[in-house]
Amino acid sequence: MKILVINCGSSSLKYQLFDMEKENVLAKGLVERIGIEGSQIKHTKTGMEPVVQVTAIPDHKVGIKLVLDSLLDKDHGVLSSLDELTAVGHRVVHAGEKFATSVRLDPKVMDALKECIPLAPLHNPANIMGIEAVTSALPNIPQVGVFDTAFHQTMPDYAFMYGLPYGYYEKYGVRRYGFHGTSHYYVSHRAAEILQKPVEKLKIVTCHLGNGSSITAVKGGRSVDTSMGFTPLAGVIMGTRSGDIDPALINFIAQAENLDVKEIDGMLNKKSGMLGLSGLSSDLRDVEDAASRGEPRAKLAIAVLAYGIKKYIGAYAAAMGGLDVLVFTAGIGENSATIRSRVCDGLEFLGVELDQEKNDVRSKEAEISTVGSKVRVLVVPTNEELVIARDTKRLVANR
Ligand code: AMP
Repeated sequence: MKILVINCGSSSLKYQLFDMEKENVLAKGLVERIGIEGSQIKHTKTGMEPVVQVTAIPDHKVGIKLVLDSLLDKDHGVLSSLDELTAVGHRVVHAGEKFATSVRLDPKVMDALKECIPLAPLHNPANIMGIEAVTSALPNIPQVGVFDTAFHQTMPDYAFMYGLPYGYYEKYGVRRYGFHGTSHYYVSHRAAEILQKPVEKLKIVTCHLGNGSSITAVKGGRSVDTSMGFTPLAGVIMGTRSGDIDPALINFIAQAENLDVKEIDGMLNKKSGMLGLSGLSSDLRDVEDAASRGEPRAKLAIAVLAYGIKKYIGAYAAAMGGLDVLVFTAGIGENSATIRSRVCDGLEFLGVELDQEKNDVRSKEAEISTVGSKVRVLVVPTNEELVIARDTKRLVANR
């Protein structure tokens, strides 16, 4: 069974083709600058060098056609006919409270996703365009939506409600939704597998630390709290996002700097976090380099990030009544030994003991705690595409 996984952004589109027999990736690629000058597709057949084609890609429909053509190409393709494709799975950012699991896409589901656009105005329209482009290219193929918010739908109301007038929840759906759910699901369940323990019995904190970062409390295999909120702006500091701030600062800064609401939103999303604090870069590698040269604001940005993550871990251990496993994933979590070490330093009281030698690891599954550590600490590279492919296979097979 061959399944195509698609992750559509407003001007980009990532894809992977899986052979589900052994869950191998046959090919993957990236379509960039859709609707912008200089658009291109970079296609890689597993085991071969990437092939880049620079061509006009005015919209997602053309992008999808190029993806399908690349998969069929006689030199770097992997399919001899599109009939070999069983289904297409899509990453969709926001399903609000409508879906707590992945679903087969049909016109009713599409209407529900369109209703969620106000909750994710930057993301859902792009995801919907991707689905519609596949529908027009392959009208008979089953499609599945896998939602970033779905895994967090198990949060109890006292964790997802804000202390705001209740009517905003009823009228506009104002509440914590959480994001990166597919990643938190994958790494928490994979951690249980690695440790050969039933996930139902574990209290896990998963730290997805990348350009966007979120921390999740996973109790018994279910998300019970998460650091992102109504939007992906909340939680710890990120590449360019502020994370949690005092909400009264919005009015204060608006008045002091003469900014309107949109400008404030832009500042919080694009000019804050690591970039805002360090004044150098949103990329942790640059900030770590600068810190090693003694740059004070780079050191400060790293300290603020590590302290913020540590506080969430402590809070979630309290929320779950204990902690068995701590998992690091995504660009920073998988690669930065410094951040992992800084986060764990001081958590000995919870039973976290990092083995500094084992912590010297990158981009692979590893246990990095000492043999005697009460809390097992793991690095687990995330694989959201695999979850999407598996859910797609399951939902297609169920029909
Ligand atoms: P992601 O959004 O998951 O792709 O993660 C991107 C983030 O991971 C950026 O802040 C990168 O600086 C960070 N990152 C990637 N590789 C490394 C590395 N080797 N050391 C430190 N940070 C890294």
